[in-house]
Amino acid sequence: MSQSVCILGVTGSIGCSTLKVLEQHPDQYSVFAITGYSRIKELSEICKQFRPKCVVVPSAKMDELQQLLKLQNIADIEILTDEAGLIAVAQHPEVDVVMAAIVGAAGLLPTLAAVKAGKRVLLANKEALVMSGDIMLQAAQDNNALLLPVDSEHNAIFQCLPQNYLQTERNGEPKQGVKQILLTASGGPFLNHSIEQLRKVTPAQACKHPNWSMGRKISVDSATLMNKGLELIEACHLFSIKEQFVTVVVHPQSIIHSMVQYVDGSTLAQMGNPDMCTPIAHALAWPERIQTHVPPLDLFVHSQLDFQEPDIIRFPSLRLARDAMKEGGLAPAILNAANEVAVASFLQQQISFLEIPQVVEHVLNYVQNGLADSIETILQTDELARQVASQRITQLESRS
Ligand code: NAD
Ligand code: MG
Repeated sequence: MSQSVCILGVTGSIGCSTLKVLEQHPDQYSVFAITGYSRIKELSEICKQFRPKCVVVPSAKMDELQQLLKLQNIADIEILTDEAGLIAVAQHPEVDVVMAAIVGAAGLLPTLAAVKAGKRVLLANKEALVMSGDIMLQAAQDNNALLLPVDSEHNAIFQCLPQNYLQTERNGEPKQGVKQILLTASGGPFLNHSIEQLRKVTPAQACKHPNWSMGRKISVDSATLMNKGLELIEACHLFSIKEQFVTVVVHPQSIIHSMVQYVDGSTLAQMGNPDMCTPIAHALAWPERIQTHVPPLDLFVHSQLDFQEPDIIRFPSLRLARDAMKEGGLAPAILNAANEVAVASFLQQQISFLEIPQVVEHVLNYVQNGLADSIETILQTDELARQVASQRITQLESRS
């Protein structure tokens, strides 16, 4: 039977890779709903090719989309708007699978709506899980949702864990013979830069990742190693494991996507060419496997795999994220909000690359931590952290 798919953030890098996978399996999947925030021309092209039943845009973009659809003689697509529209399609009764690929906190409520509606949720939007942690996982359990990791590392870990690992007790301890998780990191474009060199890097340089082609925000996060920090938190929640059982390993070739070590001395790795179509296809079809265009790994070409420890002096974001996870409560949500604001300012050339973790650290010290006991509290704290980050950035700007 064909599965009906909703893609939140279809115009982004993950959204486009998802379409690439779906396109190859028209008998198994149909596109029911798509959402976009900008790039409305591209969105209308996607409407033309995939003929979804619903599309969601910001209300300010509604007219533009309507015009474009009219020009293409498309009259049978319902247009919804804003967050209410995102939530409506994410929980729509006709949807089986939701790809959560909006970037940042904007994806939290739609992703949570999909989880609460008991969907198969393919999670790319790591910020949503970093912010909501246990609330998201509890909602998944309560509503029989299947929350499957699309982030390549977490998808790799999922593939290397015992089959029923996620169904058994969740108490933060490794179980079923697992000793620890080895979370791999490419190290980003500035792996070998000195502090002096890091001081001067530009947004364009930060967005040029050596192995992956991604959206701008996650590209900067990869360059600061905050992406690995967010992924450390993501792994702790998804696999119910305390942060001390997750070791970050820099592996510049991005061929091994992460590993699981067992008590008997075994280390299982998942390998493949760095292409997000693989984890997307895995999460879509699990426990089956479906074809993608990704070529099989040629180990005679990729004959050298290197590993090293991350440097938290040059890349303090990783330390900040680990500390936030250790502290728990609202700290990961504060970290995430401050980072989103700092990265946006860096991209607009308001602050320098090295000031990104400085802003995050300031906000973590300034905003009081507390219990992350409801989504309302998390969203209020997110808002406060954003205000404090913006104030800090204004101070930094006036000094320079
Ligand atoms: P992107 O910037 O390319 O795309 C983001 C999508 O979100 C776009 O469709 C955009 O229109 C939409 N969007 C942005 N702001 C929005 C808002 N306020 N409201 C509604 N929609 C909004 O980003 P991406 O690289 O595709 O990443 C998406 C998510 O997947 C991120 O959370 C990222 O961390 C995660 N992820 C990405 C990759 C990758 O290879 N790109 C890998 C792993 C995880
Ligand atoms: Mg990743």
